Amino acid sequence: MLLPQPFTIQPISHALLAEKGVKLAVMRLDQIHAAVSGNKFFKLKYNLEAAKESGKSTVLTFGGAFSNHIYATASAARSEGLQSIGVIRGKDVDLENPTLRHAQKMGMKLHLVDRDSYRKKDSPEFLDLLKKEFGDFYLVPEGGTNALAIRGTSEILGKEHSEFSHVCVSIGTGGTFAGLASAMENHQTLLGFSSLKGDFIHGEINALLEKHEIKPRGELAIRSDYHFGGYAKTKPELIAFMTWFYAEFGVPLDPIYTGKLAFGLWDLVGKGHFPKNSHILMIHTGGLQGNAGFAEKTGIELPRT
Ligand SMILES: *Cc1c(COP(=O)(O)O)cnc(C)c1O
Repeated sequence: MLLPQPFTIQPISHALLAEKGVKLAVMRLDQIHAAVSGNKFFKLKYNLEAAKESGKSTVLTFGGAFSNHIYATASAARSEGLQSIGVIRGKDVDLENPTLRHAQKMGMKLHLVDRDSYRKKDSPEFLDLLKKEFGDFYLVPEGGTNALAIRGTSEILGKEHSEFSHVCVSIGTGGTFAGLASAMENHQTLLGFSSLKGDFIHGEINALLEKHEIKPRGELAIRSDYHFGGYAKTKPELIAFMTWFYAEFGVPLDPIYTGKLAFGLWDLVGKGHFPKNSHILMIHTGGLQGNAGFAEKTGIELPRT
């Protein structure tokens, strides 16, 4: 079983919070494991147990060239004594980028596929082809979201967090949001910030909750207006905010997920969105490994720890 390291729930103090009469703390899941960071730790933990129980020696999963999920799966599989295969989107990706270099160092076999084939990755035909090429494997879906992942992420929140009135988290596939939704208490609001452009996320989350029969206590809300142009898109304003946030509070952020979450959250505090006496918990879902690749691509160095 993957073992967690202790992490802090870091209180944040700032004049704006005092002025608005709210409290804020950051759950530093980026500290939970050196290489299986953030929400990926929770999404993978039961999946790897299931892989071992099924008697399979290999896990296979999918992702982009800078994927936190690929990075985490490679590390987690190795530490659990499993082989891993990463099916990577794009024939032209740089196998020497920091994410893929790490994955290979962890023993992950990489299989590059063109973008058209990648889109068909969930089809039985495509999976059959992969089985012919690599032998039998335990399949972890892209982004790692399935029932076992949701069971894992539901463990992020417990009774010890009932002092919080609002829980804020970033949304990619929504698996983490769904797990948290299943762990909420009546007096809590779960607020998700989508990293992707588009209102489709509302329907997607509803479908996910329905599929996994999650009937949340408390309230759910989703913001789809802090995506900064779409998935993996950034703006100077976002980078400037992240740099300020680190200087002010010592919390490193990534530009894909947690930066957008922190920006949106801080913006909403300023706009008086949270009632007086709210106690807000921001879940830091990790993703800092991606800052190395971001620096290579853009020349912008963001703190990684
Ligand atoms: C994968 C990831 C997410 C998105 O999680 P979902 O469960 O797909 O919504 C959020 N933050 C970070 C840092 C991630 O790596």
